[in-house]
Amino acid sequence: MATLASDNPLASVRKAVAESTLLTDAESLSLFSHDVLSRGAKPLAVFRPTSVEELAAGVGAATKMGIAIVPRGGGMSYTGGYLYDGGPHILVDTSGLNQILDINETDMTVTVESGCSWDKLFRTLKPMGLRVYSWGTLSGIRAAIGGGMSQNGIFWGARNGTVVDSAVSFDVVLANGTIVSTGSDFFRPFGPDLTGLFAADCGAFGVKARVTLKLVREATAFAYGSFSFDTHDGLYGAMSAIARAELAAESFAFDPFLQAQRMKRDTLMKDAKQLGNMVKETAKSGGVFKAIKEGAKVAMAGRSFLDDVPFSLHCTAEGRHQGAVDADMKAIEAIVQEHGGEVVENSIPKILRANPFPPPNSMLGPDGERWVPVHGFLPHSKLVEAWERFQALWEENAAEMERLRVETGALIAATGRSSCLIEPVFFWPGEHNPLHREAIEPDHLAKLKAQPDSPEATELVLALREKVIDIFQELGAIHLQIARSYPLKESHDEAGWAILTALKQQVDPKGLMNPGSLGL
Ligand SMILES: Cc1cc2nc3c(=O)[nH]c(=O)nc-3n(C[C@H](O)[C@H](O)[C@H](O)COP(=O)(O)OP(=O)(O)OC[C@H]3O[C@@H](n4cnc5c(N)ncnc54)[C@H](O)[C@@H]3O)c2cc1C
Repeated sequence: MATLASDNPLASVRKAVAESTLLTDAESLSLFSHDVLSRGAKPLAVFRPTSVEELAAGVGAATKMGIAIVPRGGGMSYTGGYLYDGGPHILVDTSGLNQILDINETDMTVTVESGCSWDKLFRTLKPMGLRVYSWGTLSGIRAAIGGGMSQNGIFWGARNGTVVDSAVSFDVVLANGTIVSTGSDFFRPFGPDLTGLFAADCGAFGVKARVTLKLVREATAFAYGSFSFDTHDGLYGAMSAIARAELAAESFAFDPFLQAQRMKRDTLMKDAKQLGNMVKETAKSGGVFKAIKEGAKVAMAGRSFLDDVPFSLHCTAEGRHQGAVDADMKAIEAIVQEHGGEVVENSIPKILRANPFPPPNSMLGPDGERWVPVHGFLPHSKLVEAWERFQALWEENAAEMERLRVETGALIAATGRSSCLIEPVFFWPGEHNPLHREAIEPDHLAKLKAQPDSPEATELVLALREKVIDIFQELGAIHLQIARSYPLKESHDEAGWAILTALKQQVDPKGLMNPGSLGL
């Protein structure tokens, strides 16, 4: 446990920053001590700076007094990255640093403050016909670009890689308040990749204050495809072949359980707002007649077309020329057919692409159950084996899972040419926490049943999550969102780990920057 340099440790932080940036009310401390899954100790204060200089001054003043710093972006994670139990700390809420500082259309870069959300950036760039290279996570209505750069993430633009593949450079506030720039503002790397050292650090090396990202031109031609598969090996075979051929900008799949869950949700298919948005988007790229036709097709298809679908795969092909993306979709259809799949109505990818950052209502199950995913990236060659081992794990635990009403499904997504992500997701009965109550849309939350807490079910979920991580480790998986949940040291050789610990010592000699994150 850290020792403080004073009985009133916040006093000198108060002198360094505006009083209005420090929140110490009970409600804020409670909210900011929860992530989507867990609860940590309450911070001494939540520090919400409104300028990078204020961030640096507050961080420097706090660590001088022996107070640890714990950074938070949009708070949309579930691996304990911004929860700390090791002693007095200040939680840095970057939501006040949300400005888009420079859109450089000449050099194709954009610089933002780290608390800017993916959604805000997307909406700002879209009318200019621009977008970021790998452009955010489904949580992007809240998830911050700084959170994505620190925890890494993947969804939109997954063909290009994870979100840190979009990074050009960062300005990072180190533990002592120094601001370090990691490189050139238009090209990476400039020598050894300093930007890369701070990417995906889960806040262990410093607080990202500014982020410069690669811009690309937004696609203007799209084609969508959804497919049904009876078997997991058919699905994996097709997904891997589509990924290797780089035919889809995004390709993701649901197992039969998650498929049925999605159909129960209100937000995807029934929401007229979403359908309206889809029609508007189609009108822009394909004309009004096409938009009306597409809208009518989706509305008529409703949800029933997926009733009997075991595994569903959803792909988006995008580019500049309709003929080219239609040809890509034809090639996808041929691969699907080769692997025993069938074409079904393509409403899911169409609606999702038109509403890329929906409200984070899926952080609870459709009946109000608790929700948490766990994931690993595996090379194509290991996917089927991993899947079969997870099914065996559910079988072994079927009686306990049924008794405690723990259920599981899975999302699968292609992640570049060489790998896919398997993301088992757990649902179980349990109380909603302050973050669920704050982040989920009030109308949606009102419809969900309050669930009494079930510590036994929670314990089973945490134990199964550990076993899933063990299986991933045995198969050599890699993870995003490492924070305080996935083992990192175990996956490095001794010499590699020594480099990371030496870097930690250099940037944070007192061990006060998000201590314990990454296992450092
Ligand atoms: C509904 C929902 C959908 C999701 N969809 C996806 C998805 O499609 N793909 C995906 O990969 N993940 C997804 N996630 C997981 C999560 O939202 C992402 O990992 C996201 O990138 C987290 O960003 P955040 O800003 O909320 O980070 P936070 O949760 O606030 O923080 C994450 C980590 O980064 C650190 N951190 C945050 N900001 C900074 C900073 N400025 N400097 C240094 N460290 C910092 C924190 O200390 C913590 O360790 C989803 C989550 C939910 C709830």
